[in-house]
Amino acid sequence: MRLVLLGAPGSGKGTQAARLREHFGIAHISTGDLLRNAVKAGTPLGLQAKAVMESGQLVSDAIVLGMLEERLAQPDTAPGFILDGYPRNLAQADALDALLARLGQPLDAVVKFDVPDEVIVGRCEIRYAAEGRADDHPDTVRKRLAIYAEQTAPVAGFYQARGRLAVVDGVGPVDEVSRRIVGALTRA
Ligand code: AMP
Repeated sequence: MRLVLLGAPGSGKGTQAARLREHFGIAHISTGDLLRNAVKAGTPLGLQAKAVMESGQLVSDAIVLGMLEERLAQPDTAPGFILDGYPRNLAQADALDALLARLGQPLDAVVKFDVPDEVIVGRCEIRYAAEGRADDHPDTVRKRLAIYAEQTAPVAGFYQARGRLAVVDGVGPVDEVSRRIVGALTRA
């Protein structure tokens, strides 16, 4: 099973990806986590990405694609994977298509989480208090939501046109949202 999770920051992609990983026995690939690890490790790429991430902007397509390609080469992705946070714009969606075609591993489904902006802002405030991620500061969250609307939301249309998109209501108890996703994937 090869999946993409689409949704605004704080829409629950990470939480649900961890569960889907257990459910399907596939790898969870978060480009945000890959970047945060690079920042923590102080790699040249991490140093380059740090300020961009803290400001809530997107890191360059080339950097993220390179990291993703490296991650997909690891053997734990053979049974399948969940992409969480990629693609973030149409250029990335095209690049992913080309990469997966080259690897002979096309996507099975794309799940989009529907969550209203007010709910997102509230969830990110809670995460900011718990984890202290600079990009969860309320002002930065508003900027990330604007970038999502402008650059990432069109990616849903890209997959809808290919008959791959399932839209799931992302508001409600975590278990309930997981059930909705598995249900949508079973119908897909
Ligand atoms: P996330 O944890 O997915 O919300 O990602 C945190 C931050 O990492 C984002 O706000 C971006 O700065 C960066 N990032 C993560 N994934 C991508 C991506 N696919 N393209 C560009 N930047 C990304």
